[in-house]
Amino acid sequence: MKVLKFGGTSVANAENIKLVKEIAREASEKEKIVVVVSALGGVTDLLLQTAQLASVQDENYREKLQHIEDRHIDTIRDLIPPGAQSKVLAQVKKSLNDLETLLDGAFMIGETTAKLLDKIVSYGELLSSFIINEYFVSEALDSIRKDSRFLIKTNEDYGKASVDFRATAELCENYFGTVTYRIIVVPGFVASSGNRNTTTLGRGGSDYSAAIIAAVIEASSLEIWTDVSGMYTANPKWVKQAFAIPNISYKEALELSHFGAKVLYPPTVQPVLDKEIPIQIKNTFKPSEEGTLITKSSNGKNKPVRGISHINNVGLLSLEGTGMIGVPGVSKRLFEALSLAGISVILITQASSEHSICLGISNDEIENARDVIDEVFAFEISLGKIRPCTIEKKLAVIALVGDNMKSHQGLSGKMFSALGKNNVNIRAIAQGASERNISAVINENDVKKALNTLHERFFEDHVKQLNLFVMGVGNVGGKFLGQISKQCKYLREQLQLNIRVVALSNSRTMVFNEEGLSLENWEQELQKGDKANREDFFSKVKELNLRNSIFVDNTASDEVAGSYSSYLKNSIAVVTCNKIACSSAFESYIDLKKLARKYSAPFLFETNVGAGLPIIDTLKNLIASGDQVNKIQAVLSGSLNFIFNNFNDKASFSDIVEQARDEGYTEPDPKIDLSGIDVMRKILILARESGYEMEIDDIKNESFLPEECIKTEAVEDFFASLNKHSGHFEKLYSKAESKGCRLKYVAQFEKGKAKVGLQHIPADHPFYNLEGKDNIVLFHTDRYTDQPLIIKGAGAGAEVTASGIFADIIRIGNF
Ligand code: ADP
Ligand code: ASP
Ligand code: MG
Repeated sequence: MKVLKFGGTSVANAENIKLVKEIAREASEKEKIVVVVSALGGVTDLLLQTAQLASVQDENYREKLQHIEDRHIDTIRDLIPPGAQSKVLAQVKKSLNDLETLLDGAFMIGETTAKLLDKIVSYGELLSSFIINEYFVSEALDSIRKDSRFLIKTNEDYGKASVDFRATAELCENYFGTVTYRIIVVPGFVASSGNRNTTTLGRGGSDYSAAIIAAVIEASSLEIWTDVSGMYTANPKWVKQAFAIPNISYKEALELSHFGAKVLYPPTVQPVLDKEIPIQIKNTFKPSEEGTLITKSSNGKNKPVRGISHINNVGLLSLEGTGMIGVPGVSKRLFEALSLAGISVILITQASSEHSICLGISNDEIENARDVIDEVFAFEISLGKIRPCTIEKKLAVIALVGDNMKSHQGLSGKMFSALGKNNVNIRAIAQGASERNISAVINENDVKKALNTLHERFFEDHVKQLNLFVMGVGNVGGKFLGQISKQCKYLREQLQLNIRVVALSNSRTMVFNEEGLSLENWEQELQKGDKANREDFFSKVKELNLRNSIFVDNTASDEVAGSYSSYLKNSIAVVTCNKIACSSAFESYIDLKKLARKYSAPFLFETNVGAGLPIIDTLKNLIASGDQVNKIQAVLSGSLNFIFNNFNDKASFSDIVEQARDEGYTEPDPKIDLSGIDVMRKILILARESGYEMEIDDIKNESFLPEECIKTEAVEDFFASLNKHSGHFEKLYSKAESKGCRLKYVAQFEKGKAKVGLQHIPADHPFYNLEGKDNIVLFHTDRYTDQPLIIKGAGAGAEVTASGIFADIIRIGNF
């Protein structure tokens, strides 16, 4: 004989019940089966809500009751052939009338008792099992219904009664030993006391009913049919990448279910464990899928962690005081008091000094727990030996579970460092004595991030998901998105990086999609987005609270640069091509670096100097490995290099500047390039990254622009003044040419001093042949003495800048 249990979703409506019938029919062809059913999905909640309304004399209970009635009547009409309907309808209506009488009574006296609630709530399973059996019979199955109140006996702890196994075994043996039907349909969840009062086995208890029956009749197996394909590595509703665990041990399953894996009601394991009856968890909607097999020992081989589960709605209660040290019986009094008050403890941690004890308790019970404990220790509290309990709510417990965890070192280290890197604050830690479980108490709003972080760490073959929040989608930003779109497959397959663009914003609109925006038609999506707002953007990023979040700034805005600290403080990495933050006051540059370290959030800005060229990263590696930078010589402006490479006695200077701007090699306002401010920022950043404290005002700027050009405000005026002073620029050119030199705009740093300016470069100098918009940097260091370390290549342009940002993102991925 085999026991099959079908949960609420599996029997939620006629369509689903038809699937159940197919599964039952097929199973009953091989052996006799017991089919344990839940109430139609959601009906238990509805019954409880109806009773609650009646108990506060709220007339709306009638409407809810009507809804319950409709659900059942509709299901009968859809399932049972018209000829056989009236008998079934009459019976169900009679039951519903009885239920109404009970509710009317509760309404009349404005109260429900635990005993009455059990009676009311039992109608869910009593009705569903009746309807399902009638349907089976109408489909010519050899089926009968047996009311579980005549099979399972309990005490009278209403709401969650304890089973009397001896009495239950006797009743079940008598019944199942003689019944001749192939299928016996039994309501789950419901039982009765020795006094024949209706009792229930706790929410989710139909699993338990099935396990009890399976154990007493020594069934060949217990099948739990539900709406997911097994017990997953984490709740699939919270972790998209979770997958069904093919095989798991009773103890692992028990631990996972105890810590919140609702797919199996925790008490279910115990009865079948003793008899070693296998439990198979299967999906009613995908019956061909393997599901999860729960047996005595899993063959999880070397997998130390088998699953991750969590419980929301947890509070933390702390009891502290010197009066607890070495005083025998404190724990006894504590736990006795909680037990007497019927409060269950989810997790316990105690400091070795015994100076404090911390308990995880359901949010709903924690105030009660505090009052009970304060009362028990009232005397010690009055003497100041123990402090009154403190409580904190809105927490959650997250647990790693696995039989093999004990034989693997460093698991908790991995667990806590992964959580720490993602700014998940850990409030308390507990490890089961069996070492089958490590659990941590965290804030409830960090649960999703924590689950996904741990899942990624322990189950996803090190595929790391990076969540990008991109501000600025112009020239550089647009190219950047294009590059990600093109590379994402490669990154996933070769680097195990899964890059997801969660948000985009330009100055007009912003758009978010937690599942990742489409990189094919992001322009349209962005256009339809909400009005852009920097603060709202940040709040949304924070609220989403995704692991491995990276804020990408592709703007040149100082306001955006001003927001980096907020991101870093929330452990959100920052990648930017915007130079403003790193070239503003030294103190704020250093502050950002400190924040990055403190919150383990990388702050990367490779593209601030030389676009995609690996200049800053190389410099960092030199410094980190103990080298010392003595001198830097560089041509750092792709724009100025382009301009001076193309400017000669045949062209007008202002035309060349205009061409450079039109081809996207300059800032929209070319004066920023021509005035040298952009190069000043770059050499400043290189000096700072070399370990020198320097401000922008410390840099000498030997401008080649006439005073009048510098003073212009509008871009057109700037061009006009360039035109006006064309003679000045021609002179600059001819002077250099007469010496056989070329004009290059050079940045130099030496002995703690920096300057920028136009220089005459002779033919034998490495800068002489610098083409187009290329950049070049020479690092003279303690190690590179005779010949400097040279980095040279394209140093401007949207495509290379985008690739530099991309490289920073990949650095974070490999971090
Ligand atoms: P039923 O009504 O069939 O008894 P439940 O709702 O009680 O179903 O349990 C199934 C649900 O358990 C799933 O839909 C899923 O949301 C939740 N769940 C939580 N943790 C896990 C897990 N680790 N594996 C599978 N399901 C889980
Ligand atoms: N119907 C009950 C509940 O919703 C029991 C169960 O479905 O397992 O809790
Ligand atoms: Mg369930």
